[in-house]
Amino acid sequence: MVACHLAECAPIAGLSHLACLLLDRLAPLPDDVVARARLEAHREYTFERKITCTELVRGNTHLRDVALTFDDGPHPGFTPRLLALLAKEKVTATFFVVGKEVMRDPGLIQEEAAAGHEVANHTYHHIRLNTLRPDLAIAEMKEGVDAIDQVLGSPTRIIRPPGGEYTPALLKAVRKAHFVTVLWTDDAADYLRPSPALIEHRILESVSNGSVILLHDGIEQTLEALPTIIETLRRRGFHFVTVSQMASQPGIHITEIPQVKKWTGLPPGWR
Ligand SMILES: [Zn+2]
Repeated sequence: MVACHLAECAPIAGLSHLACLLLDRLAPLPDDVVARARLEAHREYTFERKITCTELVRGNTHLRDVALTFDDGPHPGFTPRLLALLAKEKVTATFFVVGKEVMRDPGLIQEEAAAGHEVANHTYHHIRLNTLRPDLAIAEMKEGVDAIDQVLGSPTRIIRPPGGEYTPALLKAVRKAHFVTVLWTDDAADYLRPSPALIEHRILESVSNGSVILLHDGIEQTLEALPTIIETLRRRGFHFVTVSQMASQPGIHITEIPQVKKWTGLPPGWR
């Protein structure tokens, strides 16, 4: 099945366009039926898609697509507000969730998946993987995947290492374990809680085709900055896709990625 990338299908991304139209046209469907269909569709994200890369930093630069990504959740005080905002804006995003936070409040990632977002892995304990032996790092990742699988019934292959920290040996082990490492191109350092205006500025001045935008779940200033970011990007003609949608597009050929050392430390040539 070819997934629908049309902006108007964003709330139920992961389904084919036909399925999107059917779900829309057959209204009123009971909410739980739609939610179940969307949860089912979540399985497609990383297992039925033809992901064409082992690492993703940026999507196809010929496509006017961007991926909004939110790390470190779920967060009981913020995730419902973030989901409400994304639903209002009709935007689909990717949540890189921390396994132990998932187990604390499993309903939150169910809500994420049921709303058509992608739920991906940000380890179980949010440990810097470059500080672990590769086999222990893989075990940490698998624990994070298991937490997602337990709740959604669909594991993920998509991993983002905390802090973007990795080593060549770790990357090799990640590939061997059939995970896909996802980093980012645009970082507002929102976890330092700068003003919403600065978050908007940092993203909007740097974003371009195929951008993977790093933000965090649990930051008040990010919630405040998002409507302007989304509306401006939409006005510039960007479509919002998930990382698996981006990673399954043709034209992604990343074989080596430089190491991210600091939030400002994206090496020259990355964007
Ligand atoms: Zn993180």
